[in-house]
Parts: sequence; structure tokens; C-alpha cells
Amino acid sequence: MPGEKILVIEDEHDIRELISYNLESEGYDIIKASSGNEGIEKVQKNVPDLILLDIMLPDIDGLEVCRKLKREDATKDIPIIMLTAKSEDSDIISGLELGAEDYITKPFSPRVLIARLRAVLRRNTDANEAESTVLTVHEIQIDAKKHEVLVEGENINLSATEFAILSHLATNPGWVFSRNQIIDAVRGQNYPVTERSVDVQILGIRKKLGSQGRYIETVRGVGYRIK
Ligand code: CA
Repeated sequence: MPGEKILVIEDEHDIRELISYNLESEGYDIIKASSGNEGIEKVQKNVPDLILLDIMLPDIDGLEVCRKLKREDATKDIPIIMLTAKSEDSDIISGLELGAEDYITKPFSPRVLIARLRAVLRRNTDANEAESTVLTVHEIQIDAKKHEVLVEGENINLSATEFAILSHLATNPGWVFSRNQIIDAVRGQNYPVTERSVDVQILGIRKKLGSQGRYIETVRGVGYRIK
């Protein structure tokens, strides 16, 4: 799709310009970086739809960049195509193991690059559509994939534990969950959850939901539900 943002992380000026020129003529928006750290910085400022990542970079190498991006929730779903020299077989394997979607060996023809890039973008769009799980309850929208909650259209900040609890309640509106069931649901969030702390978390969630907070009901002696 034209207008998709591609970040090109490549230290060799000529290759960077060649890639950028060819992709721009196909209608893509190009962001350029000439080192690993600059690349990571640019991803954080402006999340691209795909990253072309050279492995041999002057500061931190492409594998390290890949590892860092795949470790963070906010960036782990951005597809990465690695650019490698033919002799770097072990790098290709490491890159794929780290979660890169594909690789292209240098030298490559612009047409091959564009075909590969399109294939990866298409696969990614399909996967996103299949996984898109937005729960809507009253004026609360919970996007499990983006880890985002909108209240009356406004993005609100929940902690990981609050997000897990709210998501759990919202999977079955009307259903009453005991404190223990809620604890089970949020285990693994690195939060020492006790029955009492569930109450504290719920208070926090209600507050952050503002006027929508009233839909989280306390069912005396039993637990909580979303009306
Ligand atoms: Ca290089």
C-alpha cells in the first residue's frame, strides 16, 4: 500500500539511497538511519510499518537492533527484513531466530527487494486482521494487541496489571469474577497479587475510567463484574 512507512537502517550511503529511491518511486514513505542507535531512536519516535535492517552497522549491529526491538511490546510486531552479505549465513540464522521476518542478501536487485517487502507487508496485514481483538463494553474499548484502552475515544494509561484485570472482566460482561479468579488471570504480570491488592487495583481502574468506572461493580461477598 502506498504511504506505508519503511525505515531503512543502513550505514552505506549509496545502498541507503538506492533503496530509498526505489521505494519512494513505489509510493512508500522512507525514514533513513545510518546506525543502529539512530535506527532505534527513529522507531521510537515514529513507528514504521516495516524495517529494512543492515546487519553490519558501525555502532550496534543489526542483530542487536533486532533483539532490542523484538523485546519491547511497542515494537515487537514491526516486521524486519535483514540485509546481509552472502557470507553471513550464521547471521541470517540468528536474525531469523530473533524474530526477523525475512532476509535479502547483497547485492540484490531493487525488484527483488520490493517483491519481498510487499510479501512481508501483506502477511503482516493479514495477521493483524486475524488477531485484531478489540473488546468494546459501553464506552470502553480494549485493544489487546496494541495494549491500549480508549474511554469515550480517549487513550488512557493503565498499568500492565490493571490492563489484565480490565481485559479479563470485559471478556464476559455481566459475569461475576471472584478475587481469586482475577488473581489467576493476571498471574505472570510480575505483580504480587493478593485479594486485598485486587481491591486496590480495581479502585485504580475505576478512577482511570472516569465516568465509565461506574460500570465496574462490586458484588458484595463475591467479587467484581462489568455491568
Ligand atoms: Ca553495512
